[in-house]
Amino acid sequence: NLVLRLAGLRKSYNVGKPNELEVLHGIDMQIGAHDFAALVGPSGSGKSTLLNMIGLLDAPTAGELYLLGRPTARMSDAERTALRGAQLGFVFQFHHLIQAFTSIENVLMPLMLTQGKPSSEDREHAMDLLAEVGLHDYANVRPSELSGGQQQRVAIARALVTRPALLLADEPTGNLDTKAAAKVFDLFRRFNKAYNCAVLIVTHDQRLSAACDRSINLVDGRIVSDESNLRS
Ligand code: ADP
Ligand code: ADP
Repeated sequence: NLVLRLAGLRKSYNVGKPNELEVLHGIDMQIGAHDFAALVGPSGSGKSTLLNMIGLLDAPTAGELYLLGRPTARMSDAERTALRGAQLGFVFQFHHLIQAFTSIENVLMPLMLTQGKPSSEDREHAMDLLAEVGLHDYANVRPSELSGGQQQRVAIARALVTRPALLLADEPTGNLDTKAAAKVFDLFRRFNKAYNCAVLIVTHDQRLSAACDRSINLVDGRIVSDESNLRS
C-alpha cells in the first residue's frame, strides 16, 4: 500500500556541461499510504531537488519514481502535470495565495485549474475544509485581512481540496511563530488520520521532525538514516 516508491533515483544538474553536478546519488525510499514523515537534512543536501522530483516538477536523470504504482520518470510534461494535479497537494513556506481572491476562491483554485467551474459540491467541500482549519467565518475575506497562520491554514485547505494521496509540505511552519506553527502541524496530523492522506514534510527543524512518525535524513544527496519516532 505505497503512495510513493523511489528506486535508484539520481539527479544531476547541467548534464553534459563542464559544470555537471550530481546532487542525488541513487535514492531508494518508500512512503506508505498512511505515513506521516519528515525529510530533514542540512542546507544544500538536496532536499529541494528531491521534493521537486517527488512533486513531479522535474524528472530524475536516472532511476524511477512510482506514484501509486505508476512509473513517472519517462512521462511527458502533460502526463506529469495531470498526475500532479490529481494526486499531490503542496504547502510551501510562503503560502502563495492569490491576493485578489477570497479564501474560498483560493481553496477552489486547484479544482478550477483541473476541471473549470466548481460545482456546488466542490464549494461545499471547500467550505468544509475551511471549517476544519478553523476559518469558516473567513471564507469571503482576502489574504491581506488574515494573519500569517490563518493564511497558511487557507493554503492547507487549498492543498487538500483535490483529495490528494500525498501532501507535500516545504518548511510549512518556517515563517510562523510557535503557536501558529503548532496549529498548522496539528492540522497535518488531523488530515493524515481523517483523510488517509500521506504527509511528507521537508524541514530544517529537528523538533518538528521528531514530532512526525518517521524521520528521513538526507546528507550530501544520500539517505543516511530513516527512523521511526514511534515508541513501541
Ligand atoms: P537543499 O534544499 O537541501 O538546500 P538543494 O536541492 O536546493 O538542497 O541543493 C542541492 C545542491 O544542488 C546544491 O549544491 C545546489 O547548489 C545544487 N542546485 C540546486 N538547484 C540547482 C540548479 N537548478 N542548478 C544547479 N545546481 C543546483
Ligand atoms: P532552499 O534549500 O532553502 O529551498 P534553494 O533551493 O532556493 O533554497 O537553493 C538551495 C541552493 O541551491 C542554494 O545554494 C542555491 O544557490 C542553489 N541553487 C538554486 N537554484 C540554482 C540554480 N539555478 N543554479 C545553481 N544553483 C542553484
